[in-house]
Amino acid sequence: MTAPRVDTVVRAGQVVTASDVFEAAVAIKGDRIVAIGPEEMLPAADRVIDAAGKYVLPGLIDCHLHVGPEYDDWKTAALAAARTGLTTLLPFVTYEEGETLPKAVERLRDEAGALSVLDFGFHFILNHEPHILGGIPEAVRMGVSSFKLFMTYKKRLKRMVSDEFIARTMEQLSALGGLCQLHCENGDVLCYLEDKAIAAGHTAPTDFPPTCPDWTEEEAINRAILIGRLTDCPVYVVHLSTRLGLERIKRAQAEGQRVWTETCPQYLLLTDKEMERLGPFAKIGPPLRPADGPDRAALWTGSEAGYIATVASDHSPRVPAAKEPGRRNIFVDGEGKPIPFGAPSLETLVPLMYSEGVVNRGLPITWLARVLAENPARIFGLYPRKGAIRVGADADLTIWDPAPEWNIERTQHLGIAGFTPYEGWKARGRPWMTLLRGQVVLGSDGTIEQKPGYGQYLPRTSPRPPVGGAVR
Ligand SMILES: [Zn+2]
Repeated sequence: MTAPRVDTVVRAGQVVTASDVFEAAVAIKGDRIVAIGPEEMLPAADRVIDAAGKYVLPGLIDCHLHVGPEYDDWKTAALAAARTGLTTLLPFVTYEEGETLPKAVERLRDEAGALSVLDFGFHFILNHEPHILGGIPEAVRMGVSSFKLFMTYKKRLKRMVSDEFIARTMEQLSALGGLCQLHCENGDVLCYLEDKAIAAGHTAPTDFPPTCPDWTEEEAINRAILIGRLTDCPVYVVHLSTRLGLERIKRAQAEGQRVWTETCPQYLLLTDKEMERLGPFAKIGPPLRPADGPDRAALWTGSEAGYIATVASDHSPRVPAAKEPGRRNIFVDGEGKPIPFGAPSLETLVPLMYSEGVVNRGLPITWLARVLAENPARIFGLYPRKGAIRVGADADLTIWDPAPEWNIERTQHLGIAGFTPYEGWKARGRPWMTLLRGQVVLGSDGTIEQKPGYGQYLPRTSPRPPVGGAVR
């Protein structure tokens, strides 16, 4: 009898799951985790990675970012993400004019498959075009189980959808075991307030946040929840930014409805003061909320208490030239076209959440595994293949060194935005190494050891409820 042998053992690290931290070794054969336990109980390995003094987290997932023509491309976004300790990306993508959803899935699977160094899936944005809904059943069979609707952005052609369109989409997704993501702001009211501000000549960057009152998020969340109840469709509120919206979501959760939400570092950490400092570069939707308001504290508490399931970047970088005209008029350019929303966030997501959440606010490291790994994997139909350190799962690990102290600087970033709102912020900890399906992606010397195209398309299944309850 020959002794069993594995390819890799990661030894002596503190293994972190969404519920526990314990010292163990992780054995990997091929692309899977095959054993977890005391090192001396595990088979011999061809390669031993010494993770002493480090956290061994499940491979981290960014479940909300934008990749594509107006943003970073697949090669850049995935490389940038890989350097920060992420191993899986679930970006929002769009179909082209005249393209069906199944055709778009095929096209993007090829495009991203050739360029992405990280594993990836797709959420599709659906515009207000009823014919596009015909492709949903086939897209779900192809492994796209989440679709996003915008309840705002009235000035972007076909972007804002009607309540009828929401109901029709949710009805289909409910029957197919899918999930509906919604950008919840009342687009009619926002458009009315924006036009009023423009007519009054109030078009400075600081005039933007007041045109998006907090209750317009709450109102749209309420509508999304009620249409979700009508159709029995799981509802996922993207980038939650207000206390009012959170309270409405908590009520739906208490009533047993499948309503889940995410927030983003920008809503946890930044305020409308950034409009003075960064002008159009801080124009994001929903807006940064008032510095003296209740929202940031409520979002931290909501995440700690388990009502907010995930944290994601909503990375939407723009080339500076697209933002510049917003200095004169924050709403529209000379031709009446909207000044784009969005800011870079991908390359600061993980370091900020470790530094600000775990180090500065004392949240347990299990919180990080919950909001950036297990819960996104559960909600988006990847669990238990992704999001967990367990036997049979993909051998995706983010090995985190908690010791380094450093400053965030835009020169560290690869994306097209050319700036970061967090310039000069102090950070603690760094990804020391990542493994994706058993292979090292981020090496301990900071190099990316796999080529663009190493990433694989992830067909996804129905959502599972996220882990909830207080993290401590
Ligand atoms: Zn977004």
